[in-house]
Amino acid sequence: MNRAPGKQVRSVEAVKQEYKLTLPKVVTGFVDGESLPAHGDFQLTAICPATETPLYELDESSAADVDRAVRAARAAFDGTAWPTLPHSQRKGVLRRICDVIEKHQEELAVIQALEVGLPLSGIHAMHMPRTIENFDFFSEVAGTLAGESFTQTGNYLSVVTHEPAGVAALLTPWNAPLVLVSMKLAAALSLGNTVVLKPSEYCPYSLRRFVEVLHEADLPPGVVNLVNGRGPVTGDALVRHPGVDVVGFVGGTETGKVIMASAAQSLKKVGMELGGKSANIVTDSANLETAIDGSLLAILAGNGSQCLAGSRILLQRGIANEFVEKFTGRLANIRVGDPFDPQTEVGAMAFAAHYQRVLSYVDVAREEGGEVLVGGKPAPGFEAGYFMEPTAVMASSNQTRVCQEEIFGPFASLLTFDTLDEAVAMANESDFGLVSYLWSDDLPTVMRASRQIKAGTVWVNTPLTRDLRAPFGGYKQSGVGRDGLRASVELLTEEKTMMIPNEPLSLPKLGQGD
Ligand code: NAD
Repeated sequence: MNRAPGKQVRSVEAVKQEYKLTLPKVVTGFVDGESLPAHGDFQLTAICPATETPLYELDESSAADVDRAVRAARAAFDGTAWPTLPHSQRKGVLRRICDVIEKHQEELAVIQALEVGLPLSGIHAMHMPRTIENFDFFSEVAGTLAGESFTQTGNYLSVVTHEPAGVAALLTPWNAPLVLVSMKLAAALSLGNTVVLKPSEYCPYSLRRFVEVLHEADLPPGVVNLVNGRGPVTGDALVRHPGVDVVGFVGGTETGKVIMASAAQSLKKVGMELGGKSANIVTDSANLETAIDGSLLAILAGNGSQCLAGSRILLQRGIANEFVEKFTGRLANIRVGDPFDPQTEVGAMAFAAHYQRVLSYVDVAREEGGEVLVGGKPAPGFEAGYFMEPTAVMASSNQTRVCQEEIFGPFASLLTFDTLDEAVAMANESDFGLVSYLWSDDLPTVMRASRQIKAGTVWVNTPLTRDLRAPFGGYKQSGVGRDGLRASVELLTEEKTMMIPNEPLSLPKLGQGD
């Protein structure tokens, strides 16, 4: 097992010196273009997961802070030119945002690696370019937004237009802090909304610093606000606030259910991007080498903490032995360690409870009759930090917990199948339906399986590719609604129908007596 590069983990002080980074002592929210003052009602110590040392105190935003943030967003929406800005000006703001993110991208990447333990190299290679691409993509959207008109109703012209939905509350998770928030935020801004962000309590400074950076792009105060704190406190106050028009949520399925129920109290529009337990089907007709490369990326990218992880690997009998041998050999060789070492492939699990939870599934697998093929333990040789061995288990059946529950770490559950029908049935036997992977060079197999799999995305012979125009989201308990071009417009705008007669009307004259 090749773990040597990871055993030396840079201290937080060493990272600060190397990247000339200053961390605040206390992190708060950001409202109306200004920092919220710390009030100390409740503080959480943020811990660097690679070293288990404190980073700063998170000063939790109270319900009163949330109220202030929503009022600021409301005032920017109801009382300024922001919602009706001409497209050329709005595009200018989004383009300037791309520039300021690019300027600060190293700092923003380093903060994320410190907070959630992702390898810095991956944040640089994928997260930061994608964050910029999200704003770049949506900078064009408002200018291409078209309504509809209907002329078939006799004397009438009906014109359908899109108007911004209003104040959008965007609540996001910790696993890819800027990528996930930027998709929803860029869409919301391009369509003329104002926003209150509520990031995960495990990455408050990544988002806080990001929002400060956005304001260097001359974003008007109040258009983007941020509150920081725990979900059931700060998040709940935000979702319930009467000044919020629409809730965009990315996070776990159980949290999604709570948020939908809260938002339903005032019938707010909701978009839900939730969890997954995605099937990765490798058939006998696959190019095996590519399938193994892709399967490793699908379960290890982002430390395996990805909604779209290919975490249930279904192997056709003819290739199963060879796949298992090569796949587990490669997993055993993965470089686990210091998020700041460019050689590192899997960093630290984001926080202690998450680390313990992912590891606990090893015992679950054994209790369920599964066989641990590789990994299954804390990664050896580290003095501190939440490092675990990439793990694969051969599960005893698709009904086991390791095949049905989202584990959200470098933990793959394997199963075998004989026929394609069996594989599709197993893929669909899940409460989730976010994505699926299919490896086959046989066209009829690809066409049949991709039609029958119940998932929002079917990746054929490729892992983890996105086209921002295409919808992304889940079937079943993986979500409600989609992100993407049309899908984002659906969530973040209201449609309005205006009807007008072409020729003056001769209306019946009521109330004229006899
Ligand atoms: P989480 O559900 O615990 O938290 C997500 C956000 O919701 C956080 O900001 C949290 O503070 C907040 N929250 C929690 N309880 C709340 C409440 N009662 N009211 C209001 N807000 C509340 O998720 P997490 O652990 O941060 O992230 C992991 C989950 O996110 C996984 O299930 C993963 O699959 C999912 N995810 C989905 C997608 C997608 O696009 N479908 C993308 C990334 C992550």
